[in-house]
Amino acid sequence: MHPSTLAFSHLKHRVSIEQVLTARGMMTALKQRGQRLIGPCPVHRGDHPQAFVVDLSKDLWHCFTQCRGGGDVVDLVRRMDHSRYPDVARYLASLAQVLPTPARAEVNSPARPYRPYTRNLRLNPHAPLLVEKGIRAQTARRFEAGAYHGPGFLKGCVAVRLHDPEGRPIGYAGRRLDPRLAEQYGKWKFPSGLPKRDILYGFHRIASRLRQRIAVVECPWGVMRLAQIGIPAVALLGIALSHTQLQLLGQASRVVLMLDGDQAGRSASHRIVETLNKYTLAQVHRIDLPQDHDPDDLDNWQLSRCLLSLLP
Ligand SMILES: [Zn+2]
Repeated sequence: MHPSTLAFSHLKHRVSIEQVLTARGMMTALKQRGQRLIGPCPVHRGDHPQAFVVDLSKDLWHCFTQCRGGGDVVDLVRRMDHSRYPDVARYLASLAQVLPTPARAEVNSPARPYRPYTRNLRLNPHAPLLVEKGIRAQTARRFEAGAYHGPGFLKGCVAVRLHDPEGRPIGYAGRRLDPRLAEQYGKWKFPSGLPKRDILYGFHRIASRLRQRIAVVECPWGVMRLAQIGIPAVALLGIALSHTQLQLLGQASRVVLMLDGDQAGRSASHRIVETLNKYTLAQVHRIDLPQDHDPDDLDNWQLSRCLLSLLP
């Protein structure tokens, strides 16, 4: 369906005022008081600290100073962007696509909330797979990655520790080493119930470097390889950009996408660049890796050359 044919009433229920403001990094300027958000008006861009009020329960906004008016999420976007209804519809429809599915949808599958796994596992940083990927033992230790030799979930895997954006450990992902199992079930295995979409791998390690250029790759190996040449990087753990990941990347000034050089990586890359350009203020660049190459297939010289090519 063409987005502009989507009914506004549908979109209004799918995307809230708060989600639009969050996607645009405007929430930090607002204070929450009960069911209300209060702050300077993002529509006329004034600085009166109480000009703009959002009623979260009704999903309506109002500006008491210059705009002297308000409305719903459609009015907000229309007035902020000076855009016409079809453009507002397109904007809301595309934002709806990157938002997490509404809580209503989860009623049918009452999964238990994920309980973070916080035990420290002993991992062998000299795993042949890591050596093959060019990841030094010292790097593997720092990133808490290595072969797991015990029984259970990570049996026969090279494990990588995962953290939430604040850096709290939440569990381990396992890279299957048995080629048959990897073929059948996928290379990576994640704990059941893990909110994978809320993870931007490696984010807590680079959170203090968001003014620099941040590389975005698909998988943790790329993050580790780039870290070895001093480049801050994060991994999507796949090729889809979730709402949480969008919000985290929106805090960066410069983002360099470096997804795998395959068909899936390339088309995802185009989509993600578009989304980042639309919803964040970050300067976004894309690097197309050689056909069938992942960042960890390149040597250090090739990796740095790729990134250097972007310097002004
Ligand atoms: Zn206003």
